[in-house]
Amino acid sequence: MTPLCRMFASICLTVLMSSTARAGDIRLGRDVVPTFQSISLKLDADSVSYAGTTHIELDAKHATQTFRFHARGPSLDSIRLTNAKGSAIKVTTALTDSTQGLITATLDRKMSPGHYKLDIAFHETFNTDAVGLYRMEKDGHAYAFTQFEADYARNAFPCWDEPSFKIPFQLIISVPKDEVAIANTMVGKETVKDGWKTTVFKTTKPLPSYLLAIATGDLEWVDIPGLGVPGRVITVKGQSHLAKAAAETTAPILHALEAYFGTPYPYDKLDLLAVPEYWAGAMENAGAITYTDRVLLIDPNAQTASQVERLIRISAHELSHMWFGDLVTMQWWDDLWLNESFADWMGDKITFQVHPEYASDLSALQDSQGIMFQDAQPSTRAIRQPVDTTVNLFENVGLAYDKGKAVLSMFERWIGPDTFQKGVNSYLKAHANGNATADDLWKELDKASGRNVSQAMAGFIEQPGFPLVEVRPGTDGRFVLSQRRFTNLGIDQKNLTWQIPLTLKFQHDGNVESKNILLDTAEQTVDLGKNVTWIYPNQDAYGYFRWSVPAEMMKTLAGSSTTLLTPRERIGLISDSAALVLAGAMHGDEYLRTLEAMSGDREPLVLVSLLQAIESMKNIVPQDASPAFAAYVRRTLGPALNNVGMKAVPGEPQVRALLRPRLIALLGDEGRDSAVQSFAESEARRYLDDPMSVDPSIAGTVLVLAARDGDRALFNAYKAHAEAAKTPAIRSQFLNALGAFRKPEIRAAALDYALSGPLRPNEIGMVARATQNDEAGREQAYRWMTTNYEAITSRIPPEFASFMPFYAGGCSQERLKDAQTFFRDPKHQVPGQEIQLGEVADQVNDCVHLQEREGEAIVAYLDATSHTTSTHPTAGSPR
Ligand SMILES: [Zn+2]
Repeated sequence: MTPLCRMFASICLTVLMSSTARAGDIRLGRDVVPTFQSISLKLDADSVSYAGTTHIELDAKHATQTFRFHARGPSLDSIRLTNAKGSAIKVTTALTDSTQGLITATLDRKMSPGHYKLDIAFHETFNTDAVGLYRMEKDGHAYAFTQFEADYARNAFPCWDEPSFKIPFQLIISVPKDEVAIANTMVGKETVKDGWKTTVFKTTKPLPSYLLAIATGDLEWVDIPGLGVPGRVITVKGQSHLAKAAAETTAPILHALEAYFGTPYPYDKLDLLAVPEYWAGAMENAGAITYTDRVLLIDPNAQTASQVERLIRISAHELSHMWFGDLVTMQWWDDLWLNESFADWMGDKITFQVHPEYASDLSALQDSQGIMFQDAQPSTRAIRQPVDTTVNLFENVGLAYDKGKAVLSMFERWIGPDTFQKGVNSYLKAHANGNATADDLWKELDKASGRNVSQAMAGFIEQPGFPLVEVRPGTDGRFVLSQRRFTNLGIDQKNLTWQIPLTLKFQHDGNVESKNILLDTAEQTVDLGKNVTWIYPNQDAYGYFRWSVPAEMMKTLAGSSTTLLTPRERIGLISDSAALVLAGAMHGDEYLRTLEAMSGDREPLVLVSLLQAIESMKNIVPQDASPAFAAYVRRTLGPALNNVGMKAVPGEPQVRALLRPRLIALLGDEGRDSAVQSFAESEARRYLDDPMSVDPSIAGTVLVLAARDGDRALFNAYKAHAEAAKTPAIRSQFLNALGAFRKPEIRAAALDYALSGPLRPNEIGMVARATQNDEAGREQAYRWMTTNYEAITSRIPPEFASFMPFYAGGCSQERLKDAQTFFRDPKHQVPGQEIQLGEVADQVNDCVHLQEREGEAIVAYLDATSHTTSTHPTAGSPR
């Protein structure tokens, strides 16, 4: 699954299975297991409920009088158990855990080992929160869709809802005769009777219940050309003209994956479905991948580089799940992190291979470097956790995806890509159509490489945090490398040791050389020869660790970064410097100087890292120094915008198109660049009159900048455009811009609209989060959340309420304290919220401590330099 946070880099929604039961209580037994299940459903999304029957073939492994299965919601109308000879065995059922949806079946006598058949008739109300089997409406038409991961299949029908019960399923779906039904496999047979069309789908390969998918309604589609199996992009009525980019980009990605895995796509067809009401970015249901519509559908007349890049990266992630996750499935949810990390790592790798123009190798590095800030916090946890008590499956989702993929990259580099691929493919071959654990993969990597990958990997997977590698001069011109756990200043955490595969890059006698080391002790002395002028301890930034070198070396690296370092290493250097500030090993003034020294970089993705680093300073800079900070922003990034230009140039590199809106946003907001601001205002006006007259890749940015000082009339215009939007992309662009106004009364109107406007539940947060663009906005959004807590949480699935502490973020300890009190009230508690609150508290504390510690040095630097102009050659040239 691709969660929302991966798409918008804003907030990670936490998905939880809420239970405080112990492992033995929540997991199904192994005495009676399913071997096949058919499910017949009669679905009319215009109704509030549906009915169904299911037939399950069972294998009793041991004599027993009871067994358990899942049904959370469906009312069981009848249940019949028969043995292999066809005689019925009396069975009664009881809901024994309503949270988990555990049903205990008790027989009037012991069933002996052998084959049995279980037939259940049931009925249920459609869900309306976009989870489970749910109904929704769009333009007067009703549709049914599903989202079953992690444990929502049990809400739709009775089943053995755990990933290790991997069995063939047959879906039989009846819909009103003019509608269409879609499932995981090709249609086997279709009949029409009494106004209902019944589709019998072909039996699936063995699948876990969480990968089943169903869609019904007035669906339409375009074919995906060039696949080895039938493929379609499926949309709701009237939207298939937006499916062109998805149809065109799919086959090359799938072929690259087939080549890597060495086996054809494993299922009999491939449908990509655009779902208008959806919480995740996308979900890897076998043969029927569902996407949130604004990811999958792109208007061919207003297509942007960032939309296409996002679609390709998410598609590559989901398609790699067809092998890693679907063909071979985790045994239990404790390996969900690997399922997701692998798909993310593979997705970026394939995106880079098929579309190098988007430089996804560098974006992936930014993800890995960025997650280390979270992994340094006291609230961090090991990414592999036992899942047995409170089952917080997508908790720490950013950590699981990004740290996991960083670690996979590091080990791929260590043992070599070919060896790594060999290990992965042996693992897939050995467990195809079955289940496996992370240990099964490490074993194959050990075997392929002849090294102890398992042991080194464990340090990064089963321990929280990561190491700081320090390089200092030793005796006789040698250097000492040491490791300890990286911590932010003033935080006391248990020290840990890792086995760190690292490659030193250094200059020796004028030549740049490299050396591989496995740093597996607290300290190690290395001989790099005489006259070493500088060392970059993480060549190409593949290692998941932070590093520090003597200050003089750091100065040399930052001062000559474009000649000494690769783009990957420059991104690593920027991120590492920020971490050193948090650790108290670099001061704020030195940090600003380092960033400024690197601002002449011409590599767009390095500039993205630089502008993110500068943007993250905005909360640390004291209020009265903001004009000087604005001057700093203009001085460091103005030349880059001059170079890139505010208007697109036909045929320009895609990475330049990705950079432009971000430069415009930062220079307009934090840089208070009047030229950028007036450009944004006039472009926004033009866009409202004629959207085709404005470069679509900057449209969202100029709407936001124009809103900052915008009035009520502009707000109303945005609202009208959001409601009349013909494409999902334009709707979300305007909803986001509605939250961008700074005038308190308009911001209040936006927050009010989030709840009272004609929005889908997943759009409430879209408007509200956008209001948090400055301290006043964060305060206002927080007050809105606490005042309207019940109204907000009543409109979203209960587990999504756990992200509410996010509104307490920023740099205010008063607000944090208030939130801690607010969430202590049992009325405001949901599982997972405490963890979110812990992460927010870490973030706020860091911000406050940095302000106190570095505020003065930052102000002194900004004051001393506020009258200097950029020394970069492009400064001052026309945009
Ligand atoms: Zn995924």
